[in-house]
Amino acid sequence: MVSGGGLTLPPVFRNAYAPASFVMAKPKILIQLDTDQQPSTFDAVVAVDAGVDHLFQYGGVTPENVTGLVHGAMFTRGPADLHQTAIFIGGSSVESGERLLERVRKCFFGPVRVSVLFDANGANTTAAAAVLAAAKHLPLEGATATVLAGTGPVGQRAARLLAGRGAQVRVASRSLQKAEAVCNAIRGRQSAAKLTPVQTSNTEETAAALSGASLVIAAGAAGVELLSVEVRRNSPQLKVAIDLNAVPPVGITGIQPQDKAVDRDGTFCYGALGVGGTKMKIHRAAIERLFTSNDRVLDAEEVLALGDSLGK
Ligand code: NAP
Repeated sequence: MVSGGGLTLPPVFRNAYAPASFVMAKPKILIQLDTDQQPSTFDAVVAVDAGVDHLFQYGGVTPENVTGLVHGAMFTRGPADLHQTAIFIGGSSVESGERLLERVRKCFFGPVRVSVLFDANGANTTAAAAVLAAAKHLPLEGATATVLAGTGPVGQRAARLLAGRGAQVRVASRSLQKAEAVCNAIRGRQSAAKLTPVQTSNTEETAAALSGASLVIAAGAAGVELLSVEVRRNSPQLKVAIDLNAVPPVGITGIQPQDKAVDRDGTFCYGALGVGGTKMKIHRAAIERLFTSNDRVLDAEEVLALGDSLGK
């Protein structure tokens, strides 16, 4: 029995008649929409650890088949409970995820909506953690930053977030064309972004890409070395070096995966695990934030702001 307001009500009546303070909250439902055929178990585990009560997982989700799934989230519970349902968009392709996010947003109207977190391939939460690590050691506004392998999901997001914080960003790739495409995509969102595409297909080009830079983020594929000890040591102006690849060989030789603000040759160094702890905290906090209102859309910038607010 639930009592309140002078009445003693059987549970069946409690939502309809009890004062608001006595109304039981609906369970938190997260609807995981993954553009890959198999929904990510990593994202599922984080959701459960972040306090989600029920997780509904869907794989192979596309803009063409998502509408019914979103309508199910929008129309089943009443307006007062919409904040207890949320959507997570994941999958290995950021581009596919972005198209899905666009379609999901178009399903919403007026107050009839649910909050959404977009973190395809962990790109937003990982890039945010890397940018926050860098910001502990240098002002990003006006800094020259090089993002090695800035064309992958994480690298693109890191470049976008750094540009958004006023850094002059060199987006590096083995292919100048790919680097240019990333710069153009970021400029489409941030017309004032200071971006330079650079080719890094050999050691000399990588050294040139680092010349004068105070920050380097290596966002290369797992098990690919992008930066040698020699080139790093020959870049005396480098204040922060962040490697996101934990799989040997690591992306920046000499940095250990667990490094977290370790001073190596006068440069603050972070390895993938050193950044990973913050990434996990941001990811969990972002899931929790979804259930505080029904109108949030958490993409790169919102995830970074959330990480900032955690004081990591
Ligand atoms: P990705 O898509 O697998 O690769 C990123 C870029 O690496 C590619 O766009 C490519 O750039 C370059 N690349 C691929 N193969 C290469 C090769 N053989 N030689 C040189 N460059 C190569 O990576 P991602 O998904 O964005 O993730 C980036 C890194 O972050 C990965 O190492 C991933 O494991 C790690 N990660 C870490 C965390 C964490 O919490 N620490 C979380 C998520 C991901 P170009 O073709 O343009 O050269």
